[in-house]
Amino acid sequence: MNLTPIVAGNWKMHKTPSEGASFIELTKNLLLDIEHVSVIFAPPFTGLFDLNVKPPFYSAAQNCHWEQTGAFTGEISVSMIRDCGAEFVIIGHSERRHVFGESDEWINRKVKAVLAGNMKPILCIGELLNQREAGQTELVLKSQLEQGLAGVEALENIVIAYEPVWAIGTGVTANANQVESAHSSVRNILKELYPESDTIHVLYGGSVKSGNAEELIQIPGVNGFLIGGASLDVESFASITRTVETVQLRTL
Ligand code: PEP
Repeated sequence: MNLTPIVAGNWKMHKTPSEGASFIELTKNLLLDIEHVSVIFAPPFTGLFDLNVKPPFYSAAQNCHWEQTGAFTGEISVSMIRDCGAEFVIIGHSERRHVFGESDEWINRKVKAVLAGNMKPILCIGELLNQREAGQTELVLKSQLEQGLAGVEALENIVIAYEPVWAIGTGVTANANQVESAHSSVRNILKELYPESDTIHVLYGGSVKSGNAEELIQIPGVNGFLIGGASLDVESFASITRTVETVQLRTL
């Protein structure tokens, strides 16, 4: 199936609301003719409100709480995010898992809350370096997918992002064989859980930049990117998006 690729920029804790809004305007101006890529901006919560985006541009939150309201100081619910105009929520990013200690159980609650709120989770999965070195990559991906998606009936509104933790923010990109093999594992695991899984996006994330985007997007099973560092720079982010559009156009 030829899915419209996704290029998503995870800004992490960067950019004030006004910096973010002008970044988005500049990026859109550089990408006025983009038609075959969905472009997602994921600013911090403070930068989400009332962003001037419409397809093929979308916005995403980087996290959420699973409850709708309540005594959860410092947390943000799905309905609050949706009311800002966002369509996606990144769930289970490796920094949430490994810096803030989020468990698969929490991640699962968040995935279900996002779906229940008629939004789309971008569920991040990926192995640590020691897990890869111990030959456990597939096991980790299976466990994160099974636990993260427990109780989820259909995959149609879900995006998966495969992000090997050792490649995030390190400048080290997984090589083509590693990416292809991990994406094929993800597809096989999903297929066992959901027969319709061919229709969902599996993104790659981990030190994607303009210099490696063309090679990475052509790897079988890669339906786009989740990008950290390179998404903070207008020229890099636009150039990666343009590369993805060019490669996609060749397949149409
Ligand atoms: C990320 O934060 O999801 C990510 C992939 O970061 P980077 O592109 O900087 O490796």
